[in-house]
Amino acid sequence: MSILVFVESSEGQVKKTSIEAVAYAAAMGGDVTAIALGNNIENSELEGLGKYGASKVLHADDERLNQGVIQAYAAVIAKAMEDTGAEVLVLANSSLGNPVSARVSVKVDASLVSNVTDLPDTSGGFKVKRSIYTGKAFAVVELTKNKKILAIKKNAAEVKETGGSAAVEKYKVTISDNDFGAKITNTDKATGEVLLPEAEIVVSGGRGLKGPENWGMVEELAKELGAATGCSKPVSDMGWRPHHEHVGQTGVKVSPQLYIAIGISGAIQHLAGVNSSKYIVVINKDPEAPFFKAADYGIVGDAFEIVPKLTEALRAA
Ligand code: FAD
Repeated sequence: MSILVFVESSEGQVKKTSIEAVAYAAAMGGDVTAIALGNNIENSELEGLGKYGASKVLHADDERLNQGVIQAYAAVIAKAMEDTGAEVLVLANSSLGNPVSARVSVKVDASLVSNVTDLPDTSGGFKVKRSIYTGKAFAVVELTKNKKILAIKKNAAEVKETGGSAAVEKYKVTISDNDFGAKITNTDKATGEVLLPEAEIVVSGGRGLKGPENWGMVEELAKELGAATGCSKPVSDMGWRPHHEHVGQTGVKVSPQLYIAIGISGAIQHLAGVNSSKYIVVINKDPEAPFFKAADYGIVGDAFEIVPKLTEALRAA
């Protein structure tokens, strides 16, 4: 089976979710070619995809592709599927991967499934498991078209280093200005050292922290852990924290390895944004707080005592 993997990058580095997509494709057992778009990705990063199972990387190093314009990306990836004879396209279930996959599926007439959590079952047809209802349930979906597109949920694929270096080939694109249809004229970078949607560790605070003046201890703990900071909706509604930190059903959905919730009750709308986290640690003074039911580890107590001690212990470690 020939598989193409669309690889996303940020600041010259391949994103972890795309490494997961490559590892997923390799685990499917096919011949894996990756494709990267734009000329601001480091070559060593692309060669490094060989470690996760890509035999070859096509690099469409056209400056016009640096901006992540969905229409243009879809045009290039659809053409690359044709050129490589790929039967399956694998990509990250991300804010870029999802709209790109939808457009590519129309262009190449493919079955598309997003939020994929498991490797395909090909024992009778081609079936994949996907997460639905914000991670509360699963559905098994059969893909019936010849071409298939799988958008892989973050943290769903096991990343193992198995191979060596991938051969990187320049891939000449045949797009015109007409393939763009949109132009990004300005971008505002989120503040903070670690971006919330990408973060491996998130330290998040709720109304239990009483006011914006108490966020110093959250930031210190986050800094010690190399984590991003998040918050509950009321906290951003009240202007204690910026809106882009609001986690939940109506905010950012995170899938870190570790989510630390401080003074957050665990309302269903908040849990909807965090239930793909690998481990959840809850710090709350109320032992009946609903968040404890979703927690892997819980600390019942006053955040104002516990958080500084935790930071101190990490510094001493
Ligand atoms: P509270 O519910 O007030 O909880 C504060 C917690 O802090 C309590 O559990 C308390 O025991 C604890 N606490 C107090 N003092 C301390 C202390 N000293 N030490 C330790 N713990 C302490 N919410 C979201 O977060 N994200 C969303 O996306 C979202 N979307 C929504 C969409 C809709 C349509 C609606 C209706 C609501 C939405 N909400 C969302 C709001 C949600 O229902 C809750 O109201 C909200 O999550 C509560 O925020 P909180 O846990 O910070 O505050």
